[in-house]
Amino acid sequence: MIAENMRVVEERICAACRRAGRAREEVRLVCVSKTKPVSLLCEAYNAGGRLFGENRVQELMDKQPQLPGNIEWHMIGHLQKNKAKYLIGRAAMIHSVDSAPLAETISRLAVQAGTVMPVLIEVNAAGEETKFGISPENAETLVRELAVLPGIRVKGLMTIAPFTENPESNRRYFRLLRQLSIDIKRKSIDNIKINELSMGMTGDYEVAIEEGATLIRVGTGIFGER
Ligand SMILES: *Cc1c(COP(=O)(O)O)cnc(C)c1O
Repeated sequence: MIAENMRVVEERICAACRRAGRAREEVRLVCVSKTKPVSLLCEAYNAGGRLFGENRVQELMDKQPQLPGNIEWHMIGHLQKNKAKYLIGRAAMIHSVDSAPLAETISRLAVQAGTVMPVLIEVNAAGEETKFGISPENAETLVRELAVLPGIRVKGLMTIAPFTENPESNRRYFRLLRQLSIDIKRKSIDNIKINELSMGMTGDYEVAIEEGATLIRVGTGIFGER
């Protein structure tokens, strides 16, 4: 079942890339495996999945040692400062940095460990009260604050679009994120090279690809309902 789901998702990614005139290699699929048992993650791995996303630190720590070492693990969920230490050396990227204090914590821990942590700035593009993320207006300021921190490298922006039955209704939020990244790039901030746009989930990843996503985060479409 997982292999078949992966095949369908892959086909749709290819079709969306074709529509957008983009190369397939520009888009990476994050298999969002939260709440799913290791046996299903193995199926996804055997079907070619090499990039997994978890939204809880503990779950990532539990699963990682049970799976092959050539998997890249991304933290995609809200992160508390006191859990950040567990991600150093485990997560290849943190998608959910939305405050300077959190970034400072990651920075300090990474420096202590002698590594650099790639991060994305989570932007609350639709201004939903229930969602984490910095407002689009404040994103550039946060990028500037993070640019001077050692041990942390801002790679791009991430957003969680509203839940909707109609993916077209989220196109404007994906456009907003992409425009925001272009605007920030134009500022040529020292130390900052933002090339990643993490946007699009099961319901709307094709629209997100059309609007420039480089990382799509697909859970239900691969692993079924949670
Ligand atoms: C759960 C989750 C996803 C995947 O959602 P689906 O709709 O199941 O594809 C993507 N991004 C984040 C941040 C999530 O928490």
